[in-house]
This record gives sequence, structure tokens and C-alpha cells, in this order.
Amino acid sequence: MITAKNFISMALASLFACANVSAQENSLNVYSARHYPTDEALYSNFSRSTGIKINRVDSDDAGILARLKAEGTASPADVILLVDAARLWKGEIEGLFQPIKSKLLNDAIAPQFRGKANVDGGTPWFGFSTRARVVVYNKLKVSKEEVDTYEKLGHPINKGRLCIRSGSHPYNLSLFGSVLEHLGEEKTQAWLKGMVDNMARSPKGGDTDQIKGVATGECSVAVTNSYYLARLMRSDKPEEKSMMDNLGFVFPNQSTWGTHVNIAGAAVARNAKNKANAVKFLEYLASPAAQNHFADGNNEWPVAVGVKINNPALQTLTGNGFKSENIPISVVGMNQVKVQQLLDRVGFK
Ligand code: FE
Repeated sequence: MITAKNFISMALASLFACANVSAQENSLNVYSARHYPTDEALYSNFSRSTGIKINRVDSDDAGILARLKAEGTASPADVILLVDAARLWKGEIEGLFQPIKSKLLNDAIAPQFRGKANVDGGTPWFGFSTRARVVVYNKLKVSKEEVDTYEKLGHPINKGRLCIRSGSHPYNLSLFGSVLEHLGEEKTQAWLKGMVDNMARSPKGGDTDQIKGVATGECSVAVTNSYYLARLMRSDKPEEKSMMDNLGFVFPNQSTWGTHVNIAGAAVARNAKNKANAVKFLEYLASPAAQNHFADGNNEWPVAVGVKINNPALQTLTGNGFKSENIPISVVGMNQVKVQQLLDRVGFK
């Protein structure tokens, strides 16, 4: 029997439920490992065109995955943005994402740039942009032939020349994970040891700091993601422009297995409360406008089918294109535990 008291509490409950739903309808909670100031426009354009407010939590890839795990079903996260394919894969196998069925996304993003569909046809994550891991060098001190493969970074010819960020950073873990697949454990360990022996200084800072190291003469060879290099190429700041003086760059392994390419991508969180908005946001990321933002704003290569870009720095970087490696992301992901062991063994910090 419904008493007056019951009726009031039921009415209140449904009122709160409505309030809750309507609040959710217009918001989206994004956990993001993208750390690029130009992305603000990416988010604000989405909010402007949809009326959906984005609440963002920024952390690194590992921090986001750890937080999702700790929060469990109570997690407010709707969308997860990560900047490393192996971490996307890790989130997938740890069950932190929910597979999404979207014709628009499946049509826009080729299978090589997305997680493997489950039996129901749902896809656990989508890549939205790519970046290459390239080598920069001082043209006055180093010849291109001395650094045109990843293997040569560990060769004695480059002794005392190398600047590279921490081996445990996802960008390097993924690169080393792919090298491990190509060379096997023994040769990869020797290669990593060779790089430790070749370091001009202990690993510190991000990729731009490694390019700076070459510019200031602290080292003469460095490893960086392509967009950091393109950013400097396009810079109007005299101090950044001058960093490009005498700086050469090379896409390694063009005559063998190809340059290592990584993905930045997104997934819908397993316990997303605003799933519809989350899917809408992922579909927005595949739109020509957002894809162009990745190219123009952060100098990444868009992955959506048919998107044309007009970024002179990317043009300068690749000319007629380049050969990229072709290793399944899951392999690179699985290799990371082994890579970390090898890094510890050879003292690669
Ligand atoms: Fe980055």
C-alpha cells in the first residue's frame, strides 16, 4: 500500500533521479593523459556544439589506469584518453573499458588503429592520432648514416652522444617492446646496454628536453616523438627557432622494419554513467574538425579515413611519407614487462 509518506519519498526519489539524469545528460567526465595545451580547443569545440560540459581529470597513462582500478564501479569516468597504444591495450585486458558499437567509428578508424572487436562486435578502444618515434642529431657533429637505425643508437660510434628520456616512460617502453620483438631478448639487452654506455647524461626530462640537449651541445643525438619536433619547427619564438639550427632528423629503420609509430586514443570507461555522451565524444574525435585539430594543433597524424591535412611542418617531416613498422599493439604491450626487466638489468633508468 502506498502511504502518503511513501508517496512523498517516492516522488522525491524520482525527482532526484530526474535531476541526476538531466545533470548527466549535459556532462562528460574525461580522464586524460593528453598533456598538450592546444587540446583546450578540442574540448571547447565539442562543448560548444553539443552543450555537453566536459569535466577533466589530468594524469599520466599509468596514473589513470591505476585510478580507474581503485575507483571500480564507483568511478565517475566516462571517457579515457591515453597517449600510448600499449597502455590502451593494458586498459582493455584489465577490463577497464566497455566495448563500443558505433558504425561511424568503425567506418572512420581502420582496424589497425583500434582494439580488437569482441564477439558481439564491440570495440574496446579507438586510436585517433599517430606519432612516430624519431631521432634528431647535430648535423655538424653526426652524419645521418650514424643514426639511421634504432640499433645504431647502441653502437660505440655514438659513445657519449645520446640524450633520451627515462626508459620506463611509455613512449620508450613501447619502442623498446617493438625492438624486442624484432631482435629477441639477447640482442635487445645488448642494445639497451649500448645506449646506456652512449648516454651523454642520465635520462631526465621529456622529449623536448632531449632536443634541447642537442641544441645546447650537451649531446648530439636524441630520441623524440615527431610532434615535439614539428612544434619547434613551427615555433615563432626565436629561442625555439634557433634550436632547429644544425638539427637533422631521421625516421629510423627505413630500409628494414620501419619507424616505430605509437597511437593516442580513447575508450569508454567500463562504468561510464554518461555512456551516450561518451560515444558522442569519441565520434566527435573522428570528425574531420577534430582530426584536423590533432594535425594542426598538436602535429600528430590523423587516422580517420579520408581526412586531408594541411600542416607544413608535417609535410617537411615526412615529404613523400615514410615506412612505419607493423607490429600488433598487443605484442608491444605484452613485451613491456620483459623490457622493464632488461632495463633494470642494464641500469637504464
Ligand atoms: Fe607527449
